[in-house]
Amino acid sequence: MLSLDSVKVGPKVFRVERPENIVDGGDSLWGQCDHSKCVIKVAGRLADDQAAVTLLHEVIHALDV
Ligand SMILES: [Zn+2]
Repeated sequence: MLSLDSVKVGPKVFRVERPENIVDGGDSLWGQCDHSKCVIKVAGRLADDQAAVTLLHEVIHALDV
């Protein structure tokens, strides 16, 4: 199980949340990065390897400023 509560990206600390599902405009997402709230969501239903790759993907989004 992915056990990471937060991740520091440059000067910002992003809280990592694991909601069961992430829905955006009818699409079910694996992950989501909210820059304004400094929150990275990784779908709780993902297996550990998927969750780790998704977290990395969202951290790369978090680097976009
Ligand atoms: Zn993406």
